[in-house]
Parts: sequence; structure tokens; C-alpha cells
Amino acid sequence: MATKNFLIPRLPSTPLQPLKCDLFDDYPLEVYIKRDDLNHSAIQGNKWHKLKHNLLAAQHQNANTLITLGGAYSNHIAATAAAGQTYGFQTIGLIRGDELANRPEKWSPTLQQAKANGMTLCFLTRLAYRDRHTDAFQANWQSQFADKALYWLPEGGTNELAVAGFEDLITDCQHQCPDWTHLYCAVGTGGSLAGWARYAADKQTVIGVASLKQADYLIPEIETLSGKTHGKQWRLHQHAAGAGYGKENQATQTDREWFENAFGIQLDRVYTNKMVHGFLQDIRAKRLPKHAKVILYHSGGLQGNPADLK
Ligand SMILES: *Cc1c(COP(=O)(O)O)cnc(C)c1O
Repeated sequence: MATKNFLIPRLPSTPLQPLKCDLFDDYPLEVYIKRDDLNHSAIQGNKWHKLKHNLLAAQHQNANTLITLGGAYSNHIAATAAAGQTYGFQTIGLIRGDELANRPEKWSPTLQQAKANGMTLCFLTRLAYRDRHTDAFQANWQSQFADKALYWLPEGGTNELAVAGFEDLITDCQHQCPDWTHLYCAVGTGGSLAGWARYAADKQTVIGVASLKQADYLIPEIETLSGKTHGKQWRLHQHAAGAGYGKENQATQTDREWFENAFGIQLDRVYTNKMVHGFLQDIRAKRLPKHAKVILYHSGGLQGNPADLK
């Protein structure tokens, strides 16, 4: 069957920018940042790669509505709403926290933006949200929206098609810098880490920096999605989450501010701040080999930053 894959454009390559400073020179390390925060104005960074094959699949199945779930600060919710608006799907977001229903003045910038992009927001109690992995949960929402052809995206957007979306990105990076040795990326659900691990060359090491504490539970799914065992070509760095998901402490904030000032590149406050903190921890602890060629993956997320920064 012919696929109508004209819907989703191939985006131009984003810059791989060298980062120079005494800290890296003295080690010595060669450091680059892959500026995927510049790939798409509304479906930014890793969310573009995770969504693109899912959007084609939705189109192929003649779905007219994308339905997904997440918390009030989920970049995946914002990206799904923007993708629907851009590519002609209706969107439904099932949001954790019924205290937000009818209280739009309490909504995060993420939720406000999702609403502005036409997303239907449904607020669930934490108890109802907990059932999200059951068949009954999906069946119930399908019957509530019986007039729509739904395409389900999992929480955080991580599935096999999301991981496959990294192949193009990695091919692009290999062209820009074929001999990189280490790559750092931020981890929420681990879908992006699985993508990098899956398509990286044998000698390359991918370090995923967890943005949440106690992230061990992610490892088996990342192994399945990447097809590679933890500790071989990839590892999960679990000491940089600071105060926990979505929170900064003094250490993560100091490293973020140092980086932003040194290079004039803005980081987001949930993911890439922790990624940079984890990288700097590894430098201070001398965990990287000398002369390593390191790529930091800027996965975007800037839409979620406080409004006065934009
Ligand atoms: C969603 C997000 C992540 C986490 O990606 P996963 O594939 O869920 O691990 C990392 N960085 C940014 C900026 C994000 O928005």
C-alpha cells in the first residue's frame, strides 16, 4: 500500500556548534552541542523526532484525532497540540490533576499553549490517571469520543515509532562529526536515550542523564527499545536529578547559569539543565577519557520555561 508520507517535511539539519572554554581545554575534551532546540518553532527538539513517524502512522490509519496523556508541565502535551494544529489533527490531552479543571488561571504555560493550539483538555483525578495502562481506560475514552478516529500516543510519546525517529537525527550527527565518542542526552521516559543508543556506532557511548530520581525502573524499557544492554554502549547517569523532576537545587542551578553565561545558549529547567549538570559532574569526577569528543544533545523544551525568559 502506498504511504502518503508527504505530510511531514524533512527538516533542515540543525547546527553542531563547538563549545570552547578553559575547563574543556584543560581536561582536554572536544565539546559540541547539537542545537535541536532550533529544529522547529512549535514541535521542538526531541519531540519532533518522537512524533514524526507517529504522525505518519496516524495519517495512514485515517485517524483524525491524536489523544495522549501527561502532567501539567509535559512538553509532550505541548508538542502534540502543536503537531495537531500544524498537520490537521484534532487533539485531546488527558491531564493528571483534576484540581486544574475549570481553573485556567492556574494552568502552566504548557497547558495554556496546548489550549491555544486547540487541544481538548480533560482533567483526571490522580486515581483515574493511575489506570492509564489498562485496556478499560482506553476503551472508556474511545466510547466518550465515539465520533472520532483516535490515534493513541503514550505518556511522554515514547513507543517504537518514536525511537525510530532518531535514525535521521543520528545520521545527520554522524555526517557533522563522524568520530564523536560520547553523547549526553536528557532522560524523562528514556525514549530519546533508546534512540541514540540504538543508532549509535559500536565505539560510541551514550550517557542519558535522568531528570528524575530513582530512575532505575526505566532501564528495562530502554534496553528493549534500543536492543542494547545497559552498561555496554549506553548508561543511565542517576546523580544529576538534584531536587527531583522539574525542580532545581543550588548545584543544578549553578551549573545551568554557568553554562548559559559561558556559551549564550539557554537551557530548559526540567531536562537540559540536568543533562549539563550531569556532564559537568562527570568532568569534575574525571569520568571521561582524555581527548574524548563529546556531543551535548540540546533536546529543546524551552517553551516550558518561565514566560519572562522568552
Ligand atoms: C520530553 C523531553 C525530554 C525527555 O525525553 P524522553 O524521550 O522522554 O526521555 C528531554 N528533553 C526535553 C527538552 C524534553 O522536552
